[in-house]
Amino acid sequence: MIDEILLKKLPRHVSIISKAKLSDYTTFQLGGYCPFLIDCPDEESLVQTITLLGAQSVEFLVIGQGSNLLVADAGLQQVVVRYCAENAADVTFEGNLVRVSGHTLVDDLARLTIEKGLGDLSYCSGIPGTVGGAIAGNAGAFGQQMGDAIESVQLLDVDGRRHEVSGAELGFEYRSSILKQTGGVILSALLRLQPKEIRSMKMERERILELRRTKHPDWRTMPCAGSVFRNIEPTSAADRRQAAGWFLEEAGVKDFRVGGAYLFEKHANMIVADSGATAQDVFELTEKMIEAVRDRFGFELYREITLWGKF
Ligand SMILES: Cc1cc2nc3c(=O)[nH]c(=O)nc-3n(C[C@H](O)[C@H](O)[C@H](O)COP(=O)(O)OP(=O)(O)OC[C@H]3O[C@@H](n4cnc5c(N)ncnc54)[C@H](O)[C@@H]3O)c2cc1C
Repeated sequence: MIDEILLKKLPRHVSIISKAKLSDYTTFQLGGYCPFLIDCPDEESLVQTITLLGAQSVEFLVIGQGSNLLVADAGLQQVVVRYCAENAADVTFEGNLVRVSGHTLVDDLARLTIEKGLGDLSYCSGIPGTVGGAIAGNAGAFGQQMGDAIESVQLLDVDGRRHEVSGAELGFEYRSSILKQTGGVILSALLRLQPKEIRSMKMERERILELRRTKHPDWRTMPCAGSVFRNIEPTSAADRRQAAGWFLEEAGVKDFRVGGAYLFEKHANMIVADSGATAQDVFELTEKMIEAVRDRFGFELYREITLWGKF
């Protein structure tokens, strides 16, 4: 566990929050306490922090914007290291290559590359979260995903060693990458994009932002973590992935509610937590949804959100 000596060795410009409430760091606004949350404002402080924690065998978890997480009410035993630049995008351009820090918001990356006439990340418009979180989970929308444009990634091992890992080595799959098993912290990524007309990309971005405004909950006022379940794998190579939301609606879940957790009226695959909700309410609602689809269709739904802690 973290002790006074280690705390004193941490870089001066990190914020150390003792007994941090994870509901303050997740878009579900749920979750109990962790012993310490160390908020790293830049790559250097992140590397130093993780190297120190690794050297002392302190267990830690990395969080970006917390937009794909459900943290248990009982909280976590581990230290949480936060790497999220809500107001400080770090993106540099060299020809068609884009270097972006892991803590830049994905939506900022989309906006800045569009302004530069490089495409096409407009599908990322309005997706909450950091580039690190989006690459680790291969976030995507409208048939495109982060892994498509990744040339390489600067990774930091738990023991503080840096590696440049190619996109091919990251084993991108639907909403997953090899990092889900191996761990490793994404410091930055190199993307290769092609020149594209700015005007058409801006229009596409506006179209997508409007679609999200009208069809998805706004997580700032309706706490949520986006789609709860993964879409359904095709049964043959010719089929397309089918929306989990369709099966959920057909299974009649739209009015399901557990405590303060309920389904967003316009999207059966999105759970919203109202002010009295607990993480356990959300978890139990997901169990009821899985059961309803199993009873109606005979297959299992798998969660897209990541669960941390005991449920
Ligand atoms: C309203 C709403 C809409 C959404 N729409 C979409 C969508 O269209 N498509 C989609 O794919 N997702 C969507 N999401 C889910 C979420 O925004 C994405 O999964 C996002 O990429 C998660 O990034 P994050 O920084 O919040 O990660 P977090 O939730 O903080 O973490 C998720 C995982 O990534 C890991 N991680 C975080 N940072 C790093 C890092 N630097 N290095 C290594 N691992 C890291 C964490 O350890 C954890 O395992 C939506 C969420 C909301 C709330």
